[in-house]
Amino acid sequence: MSYCDLHLHSTHSDGSLTPRELVQMALQKKLSAIAVTDHDTVSGVAEAKAAGAELQLTVLSGVEISVEYGSKTVHVLGYCFEGGEQGLREKLEILVRGRDERNAKIVGRLNELGIGITLEDVEAEARGNVVGRPHFANVMVRRGFVADFQEAFDRFLAKGAPAYFDRLRFLPAHAIAMIQEAGGIAVLAHPKFVPLREGETLDEVVRTLVDAGLKGIEAYYSLHDDRETREYLELAKRYGLLVTGGTDFHGAVKSEILIGSGLGALQVPAECASALLRAKDSPAE
Ligand code: AMP
Ligand code: ZN
Ligand code: FE
Ligand code: FE
Repeated sequence: MSYCDLHLHSTHSDGSLTPRELVQMALQKKLSAIAVTDHDTVSGVAEAKAAGAELQLTVLSGVEISVEYGSKTVHVLGYCFEGGEQGLREKLEILVRGRDERNAKIVGRLNELGIGITLEDVEAEARGNVVGRPHFANVMVRRGFVADFQEAFDRFLAKGAPAYFDRLRFLPAHAIAMIQEAGGIAVLAHPKFVPLREGETLDEVVRTLVDAGLKGIEAYYSLHDDRETREYLELAKRYGLLVTGGTDFHGAVKSEILIGSGLGALQVPAECASALLRAKDSPAE
């Protein structure tokens, strides 16, 4: 059997390895295909694909978009949008502008609270990548305003804390449509973490998303147990969805998760990648 990993984060979002390093590591692990699925950006896709072509590994284009669901978030993966990357990139830039506005509010509030850091400090910390709250936390630790990363979140940055501000997010149907318009395939990420509302079932959520154009479900995932995986495979069958899987590898950032094998035992059949590629070639099927 050969295996793949269709959920990887690189330095283009919050992972610690570059897209090229992900390709190299996947080859070491003898995976037969990967997708780099950075949060809300496709900026790492070209490097991943170039490295895949050079080092001979199948690399699918990918992205993971956080969407608003009730007061919480759901993650939608997009795959195989070759050719539509530019359109997707432009639409995702709206999210970066939403972040810029949010980040300015965070700095303002932190300053009011006596934490003297600037937007420039945080941008330097992000080294050209999209600025996220972890960058604020790192700067706050380094300047000695807090003892550690978690204290920065607990006292200031976490949802409900004094320097928390929400950012612009798309609705699920909007993200799915964006992926489809780019010629890609929209997949529900880690269904285990869909925040169900009171009385709501995952089946109902999936049905709604299928009506909006969802084409797949990430049944294989580092933190799904066997029972959950079976449940999601069953849902895939019921709604005629493609099955995908991946580890959500972030490198040193979440070091317990390994590329290809997750917490150790995950095996995502390479057929998941092949099926996505076939679906891309013949979208009517
Ligand atoms: P952002 O996308 O800028 O809102 O930042 C989201 C990231 O912040 C997540 O991916 C986590 O890495 C981190 N994060 C969010 N909430 C917490 C929390 N309560 N404790 C620690 N880290 C958190
Ligand atoms: Zn991440
Ligand atoms: Fe996710
Ligand atoms: Fe992820």
